[in-house]
Amino acid sequence: MNKMQRQKLTCITKNAEFDYSMAGYTTFQAGGKVEALCRVETLVELQELIAFLGKEKIPYLPVGHGSNLVVRDGGYRGVAVVLAGNLARIGKWTESNGTVAVGAGLSIARLLAYCRNKGLGGLEFLAGVPGTVGGAIFGNAGAWGKDIGSKVAKIQLVLSNGKVAVKDREELSFSYRSLSLPEGSVIVKGWLELDRNSEEKIRARIEHYLKQRKTRQPLEYPSGGSVFKNPPNQHAAKLIEAAGLKGKKVGGAMISPKHANFIVNTGGAKASDIIALMELAREQVKQQTGIELEPEIKLVGT
Ligand SMILES: Cc1cc2nc3c(=O)[nH]c(=O)nc-3n(C[C@H](O)[C@H](O)[C@H](O)COP(=O)(O)OP(=O)(O)OC[C@H]3O[C@@H](n4cnc5c(N)ncnc54)[C@H](O)[C@@H]3O)c2cc1C
Repeated sequence: MNKMQRQKLTCITKNAEFDYSMAGYTTFQAGGKVEALCRVETLVELQELIAFLGKEKIPYLPVGHGSNLVVRDGGYRGVAVVLAGNLARIGKWTESNGTVAVGAGLSIARLLAYCRNKGLGGLEFLAGVPGTVGGAIFGNAGAWGKDIGSKVAKIQLVLSNGKVAVKDREELSFSYRSLSLPEGSVIVKGWLELDRNSEEKIRARIEHYLKQRKTRQPLEYPSGGSVFKNPPNQHAAKLIEAAGLKGKKVGGAMISPKHANFIVNTGGAKASDIIALMELAREQVKQQTGIELEPEIKLVGT
C-alpha cells in the first residue's frame, strides 16, 4: 500500500493500525504482520472499505478472532478486516420464525451467554469454540457431530464490489468445515434458528461440553484448534498419533501429546515452526497410510 492508500484507509475506518503483528492477535500467538488491521463498526463503513480495497486492488482478509488462522512469518500484503461495534451485536429474537440475527463479529462465547440467559437452545455444542459468528459460519464450525450450518436460516454479506447481498438457506452450500461463497465476500450477519429451552438445561449442556474439551484438548497452550480436517471415516488425530508424532517439536511448536491433531505454541513458536510440523504430519501420514490430510487451519501470507 502506498502513502495515499494508507491515508485514505484512515479516512474510511478511523480505526486502522498499520504493520500489525498477528502474533498478538491469533490464538496461536504466532505469525507475521498484516499491512493494516481495520476494525469497522457499521455496514456503511464496511461497504466503503471493501469497495475501496477492490478498486485499488489491495488484498483483504476478513478476520474474526484468528482462532483458525496462521499468517506466515513474511506477513500478509493486505488488510485484515475485523468486524466490531454494530457488526458484533445481537438483534431481537423473532418468536414467529424462531431466529435471532447475530452480527458476524460477535464471539461465540457471548452468543452462548445470550442464548443461555434468554433460554434459547440449539448452539450449546459450540461451547468452547473460541471464534466469532462470522468465522464459524465461514468454516461451518462444528463439534460433537453437529455444525452451525444446520442452524443458519440466512446470511447477509458484503460482496467484493461493496454491495450487500442476502442468501437464504437454499442458496448456501455448507459442507464439512466449509461454506462456498463468492470470492471476497465478508459475512456481516447470520440469522440463526434456535429453540426455546430452559436456562438450566442450556447451562448444563454448555458446562458438559466445556468439561469434555478440557479433558481432551491441550487448552493450557495457545493453539489454532484442530489442524487438519478428519478424512472420511477417519480421525486425523489417530492417524498422526499412529505415525508416532505426538510430542514432536519444531522450534517453539509441538504436536500435542494430549491431542495429536493440535499443534501448540510452547513459547516463541514461529509460523514456520507450525507449518513445518503440519508438513511433517502430512508426509508421514501419507507415507504410512496413503491418506492425504487436508488443513482445517487457514494459512495466509508469504
Ligand atoms: C482451542 C480451540 C478449539 C477449537 N475447537 C473447534 C471446534 O470444536 N470446531 C471447529 O469447527 N473449530 C474449532 N476451532 C477453530 C476455530 O475456533 C473455528 O474455526 C472458528 O469458527 C474460527 O472463527 P474465527 O472468528 O476465529 O475465524 P478466524 O480464525 O479469524 O478466520 C478463519 C477463516 O474465516 C474467515 N472469516 C472470519 N470471519 C469472516 C467473516 N465475517 N466473513 C467471511 N470470512 C470470515 C477468515 O478469512 C479465515 O479464512 C478451535 C480453535 C481453538 C483454538
